[in-house]
Amino acid sequence: MGVLTGRTALVTGASRGIGRGIVERLGQDGARVAVHYGRNEAAAKETVAAIEAAGGSAFAIRADLSAPGAAEALWDEFDRYADGLDVLVNNAGIGNTRPIGEIGEAEYDAVFAVNVKAPFFILKHGMGRLRDGGRVINISSGLARTAVMPDNMAYAMTKGALDVFSRDLSKVLGARGITVNSVAPGIIETDNTAELLHGSADGWDRAAALSALGGVGTPAEVADVVAFLASHGGRWVTGSWVDATGGSLT
Ligand code: NDP
Repeated sequence: MGVLTGRTALVTGASRGIGRGIVERLGQDGARVAVHYGRNEAAAKETVAAIEAAGGSAFAIRADLSAPGAAEALWDEFDRYADGLDVLVNNAGIGNTRPIGEIGEAEYDAVFAVNVKAPFFILKHGMGRLRDGGRVINISSGLARTAVMPDNMAYAMTKGALDVFSRDLSKVLGARGITVNSVAPGIIETDNTAELLHGSADGWDRAAALSALGGVGTPAEVADVVAFLASHGGRWVTGSWVDATGGSLT
């Protein structure tokens, strides 16, 4: 028996990267997990297979979170497999934007659609499915609290908006015993950071130097923080911004 046995969890953007790390961990903890993805069906299926091979239970659901009506489409898919849920992790995100002098309206709208609008409407349409005592965890970024990468300003702005959402939603859902928090990773090795980490000879070392712990994070390290918030032990933490940057803001 795991600490989440009998619970259902949905993690957006769980086919790869940090989301995959989170679903694998929640699956190990006993939750039945919905592995949401956008385009990469093969990666989603591989993630489901990995969870099942480890003794867990999972299913994959697809919804393009940049499209109008995305949240309703996601819940329609989810409802085909499960009846309500206990843990919702808004993890899907577009990670890189361009400097203010170069970014166009379409790119700005796209990053806000996936990173801000989608979580908002996923909650609007999903609050009724979320059981009392549940958990909402929004994956933010250390960049919401530091200007170390100003060329990625539009992305950082989305995470600032997401943090306000976590804070205010905690008041809306608190009466039902549902906690809402942001978890903010620093630089984590995923497809999203491949260019940053491996695109130049010193990319990895420069990223590692940002962390007080002198390293680049892994999806599993973020997943451990999410797993705590999702567990019974996290029940008195809400409206909070949890720094999972490995000390990159110190
Ligand atoms: P990846 O690029 O590795 O994975 C992104 C995931 O989001 C994939 O599962 C992808 O699905 C999904 N996704 C992207 N766009 C859409 C869309 N339009 N519709 C549906 N699904 C979509 O990202 P990371 O794992 O690196 O990042 C995960 C989260 O963590 C993001 O919110 C990011 O901002 C945040 N973060 C990441 C950091 C890092 O250093 N990596 C640092 C701080 C925060 P598919 O596979 O189908 O394409």
